[in-house]
Amino acid sequence: MRRITTAALLVRSVPVGEADLVATFFTETDGKLAATVRGARRSQRRFGGALEPIHELVLRLVDRGKELCTLEEARVERPRTRITTDLARMDVAGHALRWVRHLCPPRTPEPGVWRELGAMLEALERGPEVPAPTALLARFGLQLLAEMGYGLDFERCVRCAKPCPPGRAAFVDAARGGLLCMGCGGARRSITGDLRQAAVALVLGRDASLDDVGARELVDIVEEGMAAHSDWAEADGGLVTRR
Ligand SMILES: [Zn+2]
Repeated sequence: MRRITTAALLVRSVPVGEADLVATFFTETDGKLAATVRGARRSQRRFGGALEPIHELVLRLVDRGKELCTLEEARVERPRTRITTDLARMDVAGHALRWVRHLCPPRTPEPGVWRELGAMLEALERGPEVPAPTALLARFGLQLLAEMGYGLDFERCVRCAKPCPPGRAAFVDAARGGLLCMGCGGARRSITGDLRQAAVALVLGRDASLDDVGARELVDIVEEGMAAHSDWAEADGGLVTRR
């Protein structure tokens, strides 16, 4: 038996039986972990508001090597009430958490994803002066794919490796990992040279100016890539299932 104390984010919670929950967390130390929460719905007192998404939590779990750990204790370490009271921010944060749930395998530490996700949630929380929420999501999505080994190449053809000159529009097939040149058959989707440059910068962790239309296009591209490598689906039941 192992006791785990870790920072975590709730990425799924589903009621079980009369009083219990199965909660899935993305944890700092162990990656994605699922846990039984006994009596969670009978006694609000025991876990308080600590079983809500978005806020950074600290958990104490007991791991007996089975599929599910047992949650012993949970508290909110870093509340993010600005996100939870703003629909646009909430939608973006919820998307990011669901991406992580679908893409990250269980019990595999992902320190890079933990860091990028925390940075994105903090940027969302800080206020109106930050970039538009969708631009933050696009950036996080590109970095998440890269962290998981599915990074998209916006600089050269993924088939023949021919580089695409800066500023030029190109075909993108996210399921195949990035650009496809005309000689290799192209793809259904094409993006402008400007958007391609922005994507290249974001993949490298640099800043890029991105309007909302461009950000949404990159989010679509990220989700195409994600669908090729996971069971990602837009309608997945959300973060919290209530009865
Ligand atoms: Zn090619």
